[in-house]
Amino acid sequence: MSEESPLIAGIEAGGTKYVCAVAKNPSEILLETRFPTRNPEETLQEAVAFFHKAKEKYGNFHAMGIGTFGPADIDPRSPDYGQILTTPKEGWSGFNIVNFLREELKHPGPVVFETDVNAAAVGEAEFGAGKHFRNICYITIGTGIGGGFLSEEQPLHGRMHPEIGHMVMPDLDHEFGKGTNVCPFHSSCLEGRASGPAIEARWGTPGGELPEDHPAWELQAKYLALAAINLTSTWSPDLIILGGGVSQKSGLVDRVRKEFEELSGGYWALPPLDRYIQTPGLDQQAGIVGALTLAQLLL
Ligand code: ZN
Repeated sequence: MSEESPLIAGIEAGGTKYVCAVAKNPSEILLETRFPTRNPEETLQEAVAFFHKAKEKYGNFHAMGIGTFGPADIDPRSPDYGQILTTPKEGWSGFNIVNFLREELKHPGPVVFETDVNAAAVGEAEFGAGKHFRNICYITIGTGIGGGFLSEEQPLHGRMHPEIGHMVMPDLDHEFGKGTNVCPFHSSCLEGRASGPAIEARWGTPGGELPEDHPAWELQAKYLALAAINLTSTWSPDLIILGGGVSQKSGLVDRVRKEFEELSGGYWALPPLDRYIQTPGLDQQAGIVGALTLAQLLL
């Protein structure tokens, strides 16, 4: 990308933190800020203040990419495009992020509104572990669990968008004498069983403080391997990337590969599992780099 490339703006609009950035090349961020997600007005006003500051330094941006937490209306044909749908997060249900930003920033140009996980998948595909692959699944395991998909290099939507955090899981807790599920909607789903809060609720200690040889990780690997099996059988990706804070636990991804191998029964002719199930190449930057990449694609 030459220095003449137009300025682009990106927002990783996560449920716990917001990241805002401007760049000319998505992998070379010029200015960035991150702050906790609060109510919509406060959060978005902080984003607006950042882009005003960026404008003073670098001029107007030409396109904006937003990767948001869900559920969200990401269908460009919908009259509610840009809106957060029904969520337990206070104040956000029905709030239209795109309209708010367009108005406050006086930006009539192109804006793309995607899920944060699809944006992360785009970032990984362009600059991270997903280079040279066309069908990528990016799963983030943290406060919640979400999955982004690139199908033939395009973000995959459905009627709405996939929410793999709520795929049904068998109860493996009982094998460990436990019964923890933190999803208020489902009796046994992936997020309810395997998110960061589930680990902490089950063992009484945050995952980050549990030693590598704690049984928590055996159970965690089993749930994540089941998710990977379900995705392999229903969608057949080239690559599954395990991101988010929980996946960073040393040794966990290796355990997932082992469990996956056992569960798969040798049925699929897959690449070696250390290639098929990977950690992100961009670490925590996948979401914001992906949002900037989506903006660049609009130019
Ligand atoms: Zn659920």
